[in-house]
Amino acid sequence: MTGIEKSHGVRQMKFSILTIFPEMIQAFLAHGIIRLAVEREQISISSVNIRDFAQGRHRVTDDRPYGGGCGMVMKPEPLFDAVQWTKKESPESKTILLSPQGRLFDQKLARELAAANGLILICGRYEGVDERICNHLIDDEISIGDYIMTGGELAAMIIIDAVTRLIPGILGGEESAEKDSFENGLLEHAHYTRPGNFNGDEVPDVLLSGNHKKIEDWRLESSLMRTLMKRPDLLQKKSLTGHEIEILKKWCRNIEDIIRS
Ligand code: SAM
Repeated sequence: MTGIEKSHGVRQMKFSILTIFPEMIQAFLAHGIIRLAVEREQISISSVNIRDFAQGRHRVTDDRPYGGGCGMVMKPEPLFDAVQWTKKESPESKTILLSPQGRLFDQKLARELAAANGLILICGRYEGVDERICNHLIDDEISIGDYIMTGGELAAMIIIDAVTRLIPGILGGEESAEKDSFENGLLEHAHYTRPGNFNGDEVPDVLLSGNHKKIEDWRLESSLMRTLMKRPDLLQKKSLTGHEIEILKKWCRNIEDIIRS
């Protein structure tokens, strides 16, 4: 299949991972929502072995850096040919280089990528890829965080995982993704399941009340409280509703009362 194709009337997102270690991807395909999405043909994930495009008996994909210094650099020719071949297979896909120097991946970027027709994800190794690959073949450069890994494969899997669950029709109910942490600028509320009492720790009564309005109110408060405690930076960035501001003010008054008493 190429690009975005219809499968059972639903669009199919095509992910292509360019790597010198395609075996790393296999376990990722075999479990959970990713496996189901592949089986249902909602997504396809293929690995392209960059080594298959390298020349010579040893199919070498790296070389010493011009200017000297330690480490090796991924040679441009095999990578260039691998990307060109994959682009021909998936002409509508966006080509992304995984790199610690790229745009920082977050939920907003995951949503942006989920709207794409397909993603070609280039996994670097060694000191990274020859700069001419970045100059001529890349639509975007994405980092999964300010730290250095040995290769881009884990980054590619993280991006595919986060993007896949945002594709309409992948999760059971659309709501489950929309209420997740970061979607509305807050962390998600606390969750409980059976038993009602675990080691003396009780599930909050309101969750057993069956009163949907009260449960929604409790969840919003839980969400605000967790965000304030764990990620106050998110609250600073969020444009709060009047109701949310009222809840925060109520807590401030309670804290003031405690301090005064
Ligand atoms: N020398 C490079 C630098 O300092 O920017 C780091 C190269 S890293 C050891 C090798 C490859 O791992 C990179 O080309 C990239 O594909 C991948 N990689 C490492 N850290 C990453 C990150 N935080 N996000 C995305 N990819 C990463």
